[in-house]
Amino acid sequence: PQIIFSMPKAELHAHLNGSLSQTTIKKLMDLKTSHQCEDVFQLQTMFATLSEDHNKTLDECFQVFKVIHQLTDSEQSIYIATVDVIKEFSEENVLYLELRTTPRAIDGSFETYVNAVIRAIDDCRKENVPILVKLLLSIDRSKGFDTAKKIVDLTISLGHTRNDVVVGLDVSGNMADSDITDYFPLLFKIKDAGLKLTVHTAEVRNDAEAEAILRLKPDRIGHGTFISPSLTGSSHLIHLLKETNIPVELCLTSNKVCQTVPSFKDHHWKIFFDHGIPFSICVSNSNASARTVTAPILFDLK
Ligand code: IMP
Repeated sequence: PQIIFSMPKAELHAHLNGSLSQTTIKKLMDLKTSHQCEDVFQLQTMFATLSEDHNKTLDECFQVFKVIHQLTDSEQSIYIATVDVIKEFSEENVLYLELRTTPRAIDGSFETYVNAVIRAIDDCRKENVPILVKLLLSIDRSKGFDTAKKIVDLTISLGHTRNDVVVGLDVSGNMADSDITDYFPLLFKIKDAGLKLTVHTAEVRNDAEAEAILRLKPDRIGHGTFISPSLTGSSHLIHLLKETNIPVELCLTSNKVCQTVPSFKDHHWKIFFDHGIPFSICVSNSNASARTVTAPILFDLK
């Protein structure tokens, strides 16, 4: 409803390449056509297939990103995508946006990717778009330690030179693909540098990993789905979460679309609410869906 659109909002968990609207996707597709890219027809076919079925498994969602990443593969397309995402969040009256994105090498350079994002943020500021935007760089845990280290070093460097924009690091990517503890030395570096850290946690079930992340004490965690005793049958993790008092980024629409929760009604937000866990309602990924779907659903449940 209109009231949700007009409410001032803060968005703490938005993946850049998960937040492209249909308009932006079309714009980026046209850009490819104008550059006479050979893969544009193949991309169009892929997008047509993707939009046929709204709900996907988590693994299928990760496949979607592989397609989207083909559209944001140049300095120009990353800049356009970032400006559009910022302006669209602002149009929905988001006043504080913490955008996150995984740098990919453009012409061999992660810096080129990140500079395009920061230039877009700067230009929106200069244009007085009424929104405060900060940036988290993400590491994709499926890409290995060496890539993660480069991104962590870049985050620390930008955390000095552009601390007006870059506030910290996010750990995301497919949980099935890696052991999170391999990355802990890098995560300690982020903490030691005084930067903020948020980690996707328990999006699928892995109790040992969830416990290790909670004991690491990041500043926030994402999802936390399989911390809920309604899914694990045990109160151990939720008690640990309560003890650490780490705020959780809850992403209802995304969890429903990726089918890690069966329905909004079964979502763990209510259990976290009852346990007094601090949380924020976030979108995570809004590609091909309305960003503000989440909030009205919550109102219905109350
Ligand atoms: P990007 O970092 O801007 O390219 O946004 C897309 C990326 O965010 C994906 O390739 C994943 O690495 C990450 N991501 C998006 N949603 C999720 C999620 O639900 N769990 C873990 N990682 C995610």
